[in-house]
Amino acid sequence: MTGKEAHASYMREYRLRPEAQRKHREEASRWQREHPDQAKARNARYRARHRTPRPTPEQRFWAKVARNEEGCWTWTASLSTSGYGQIRWGEKTLRAHRVAWFLTFGRWPDGSLLHACDNPICVRPDHLREGTQRENLLDASRKGRIRNQHGLAPSKEYW
Ligand SMILES: [Zn+2]
Repeated sequence: MTGKEAHASYMREYRLRPEAQRKHREEASRWQREHPDQAKARNARYRARHRTPRPTPEQRFWAKVARNEEGCWTWTASLSTSGYGQIRWGEKTLRAHRVAWFLTFGRWPDGSLLHACDNPICVRPDHLREGTQRENLLDASRKGRIRNQHGLAPSKEYW
């Protein structure tokens, strides 16, 4: 039996011994009470060794993008039913290309955001352009934000 296997088997057995676990926990907290400074230092060492910095929302976003020099930057994560990239952004699920625009220019696009490259999973900022007022109106009517005379129900997609 290797050391690793021996440890695994000990841990398997240990899990079946709640009494031993309780005793260890009590000993540990007694030791911590009696040696507060050492316990504090040990805690700090443990945290320093195990701390993994949390990625920012921006890092999380770009990690899902396959960039290349020329050509489209492909969204590699989840897609909406209509074929656009999408990402959880706080409470909402947003279109990935809109988030790419926001992260690049520091503001959300006015109205619709169109792909100059015609590739819905592309999030490359210089392949995107904001819709003109006319395009935005067409887009809004297509998505049912403006009810047409046929009384079509608004679509469930907001972006
Ligand atoms: Zn593109």
